Amino acid sequence: MVLPVSWSKGWQQKRKYFFIAVHLYIVFHFLAWYVFDWKFWGKTAMLGLLSLVGGKINAAAIMIVLIVTSILFFGRFFCGWFCHLRGSIEFFDWILFKLNIGDYRKRRSKNVLHSVRYRWVFRGLVLLSLLTPVIGYHLRGQFTGFSIQQDQMPPLADLPGFEDKLFKASAPINVDISWTLLDYGLVGFTTFFILFVIGFVFNYHMGQGAFCRVVCPYPVLFAPLMNKFKYQTKITKVGDCTGCRSCSNSCPQGIDVSREIFHFKGKVTSLECIKCYRCIDACDDNVLMDTYKGMGEQTRFFKAYEKTPWLKGQRNQQIQDELPVWIDVGAIAFSVFIGTITSNLGGFWFYVGSIIAFVLFRTNMKFIFSKKSEA
Ligand code: SF4
Ligand code: SF4
Ligand code: SF4
Repeated sequence: MVLPVSWSKGWQQKRKYFFIAVHLYIVFHFLAWYVFDWKFWGKTAMLGLLSLVGGKINAAAIMIVLIVTSILFFGRFFCGWFCHLRGSIEFFDWILFKLNIGDYRKRRSKNVLHSVRYRWVFRGLVLLSLLTPVIGYHLRGQFTGFSIQQDQMPPLADLPGFEDKLFKASAPINVDISWTLLDYGLVGFTTFFILFVIGFVFNYHMGQGAFCRVVCPYPVLFAPLMNKFKYQTKITKVGDCTGCRSCSNSCPQGIDVSREIFHFKGKVTSLECIKCYRCIDACDDNVLMDTYKGMGEQTRFFKAYEKTPWLKGQRNQQIQDELPVWIDVGAIAFSVFIGTITSNLGGFWFYVGSIIAFVLFRTNMKFIFSKKSEA
């Protein structure tokens, strides 16, 4: 069985090379900083948001401004082509598919994507938790305006091994790293474990790309800039659509592409679109293109199978489990609570704690709920 959209042709092949290039850049940056002592720019990562809100202008803060500005013109193209986390998430999706763990191949081929109600609230709470240190800074009146940060954050700033510690310096528990071979292994394993939980564990439980669909807080920043500028490029119907739905069935974000282009003047307007171009690759009739220009002419019958999907409030997600509201709310609350505790070990540990808590809560409650329903 092969993946519904192959990594070895079309846009996916180009994306594969992009993600490899992004990771090579990260390795180059580490080598430049730590081995060759070329310190032209510091850490460029999403934690630049914290710097920016705190008034510190550094490389990471500039990167955040560039990313957010790019949304206005290209939508979430950054997500689909440049985000290194997305690269890891899709890598683990590929591993799960190849190894077919827990019948993943079957679910993946049918594009089974689980989600929760209130995922935007979830993302918002995660963002709030991420920003808590700088919010406190503002509340205490310590904000003194914007300034260029001279002492740049090093590339490893939020990763295991920084300042020769396994966790962040102020963590309640820690391990000193003296950079022996064993310590390199420990740091490597810990970093891998974080990515494993974000990619492997979450993909496995909630379907491909779950981190981007459910938890990642950055779409909260991106959403207000989506569909605001007439020159923003969007996935667009430029030819005669047959209504075959291959595009919808291949979308990792659960967007019903064929329904969107039917209802929104040939455009995918969903805030969830990450510009991965899987829909474009899946369309054998070359009907889709990423452009700001208007839709192409439709000469044949365009199947009007669902006229008002937005009234159901679910047009962006394919599957929401039939669970009571309290399970979704409970899973989100428990997840943010545990994530806030584990974030004391370092920024990325928020996600480890929150994802494990979310999965455990949801799985157990689902089990209890199904037992109750049977009885
Ligand atoms: S949603 Fe978050 S993790 Fe996913 S690609 Fe976008 S920024 Fe990266
Ligand atoms: S856009 Fe292409 S893949 Fe999607 S329904 Fe139309 S013909 Fe099929
Ligand atoms: S609509 Fe197309 S480009 Fe957007 S996320 Fe879905 S498959 Fe990717």
